[in-house]
Amino acid sequence: MDLFEYQGKEFFAQYGMPVSPGKIAFSVDEAVAHAEELGPPVMVKAQVHTGGRGKAGGVKFAATVEDVREHAGNIFGLDIKGHIVKRVWIEKASDIAEEYYASFTLDRSAKKHLGMLSAEGGVEIETVAEENPDAISKIWVDPVDGLTEAACREWVEKANLNPDAVEGTITILQQLYTAYTEGDADLCEINPLILTPEGKVHVLDAKVTLDGNSTFRHEDYAQYDETQTRDEREEAAHAKGLQYVGLEGSVGVIANGAGLAMSTVDVVNQVGGKPANFLDIGGGANADVMSGALEVINNDPNVKSIFINIFGGITRGEEVANGILEAMQRVDIGAPIVIRLDGTNAEEGRAILEPNLSDMLRMETTMLDAARTAVELAQEQK
Ligand code: GDP
Ligand code: MG
Repeated sequence: MDLFEYQGKEFFAQYGMPVSPGKIAFSVDEAVAHAEELGPPVMVKAQVHTGGRGKAGGVKFAATVEDVREHAGNIFGLDIKGHIVKRVWIEKASDIAEEYYASFTLDRSAKKHLGMLSAEGGVEIETVAEENPDAISKIWVDPVDGLTEAACREWVEKANLNPDAVEGTITILQQLYTAYTEGDADLCEINPLILTPEGKVHVLDAKVTLDGNSTFRHEDYAQYDETQTRDEREEAAHAKGLQYVGLEGSVGVIANGAGLAMSTVDVVNQVGGKPANFLDIGGGANADVMSGALEVINNDPNVKSIFINIFGGITRGEEVANGILEAMQRVDIGAPIVIRLDGTNAEEGRAILEPNLSDMLRMETTMLDAARTAVELAQEQK
């Protein structure tokens, strides 16, 4: 679950982290009223579930209440990477001496929490990682041991922050670690974490992703569930009872079994393509299930080819083949399909498909070949 910046700041404040006072507005008039109450100068900040708001014109300094009216007027309705601004956060403006970056996330391969700290804040961490990787100080924290003060100090000292910022940063990072672990977060990021001219370390932005599976432990997370940005494709798929996750690419993926669906996504990437989705149709692959899956994929305008990867188990190859053919009758498919059918009675299944093959329905015997064909077809369509 992704939190808006203002929700992230409320979340951080519960763990003692210093954030600026502010109020959320749903209209220009409300923004102006909040600014009058807080007293300018204030920041006018678009609240959307994506970063880079500053660059997109969604974060503005307002010296006066009139400036707030103007900026809020421009920011409401703004499209930031496909997210339309419907709420705006008004907060007391801070003076900045330096901008830093701090975050915790999970390093799955190390089986540890990864903390990152950089004196080069304000810019996206991906850019720092690419252009100046040495500017990021990292720490891997064993979740059983937790983050000790000594380890935290060593980590902060390696980051070459302004000496005035060191003690304040150590305190905030320990609070950030507590928020991240006790709050069951997948990501807690502060960019920028600032040093003020008065020598105070302060949180100026908050990006928080909470683990949606932890809500049973946190009753208050229901409020965040309500404000999620929903993927229309996911809504449609879930309504049909399909296990679907929307992705950004052009190869639609249908597979039976979560493990095979994940491998299919991987193999599409491996041969240089980009999957449009993860879709697990489960054990059965009858015409109903297959039609539902094809409809969802077909409604995604980014899909340029469809890769159906089925390994027959209890469901036999001929059932799968008939299911696909019947589904193709029911749904008006807009992109070419590539099938790889293996497992129980695969040969019988392939024999059923064989006479129906065309430019719009191809078949390959291996998963890798099918992925290559699907990716080539997707690239041709562009
Ligand atoms: P993002 O662009 O979505 O990451 O939004 P941020 O909240 O990080 O704001 C972008 C930039 O605006 C920050 O890096 C700061 O340089 C600037 N900014 C944000 N809040 C303040 C503030 O209170 N005072 C000043 N002077 N600048 C701010
Ligand atoms: Mg930021």
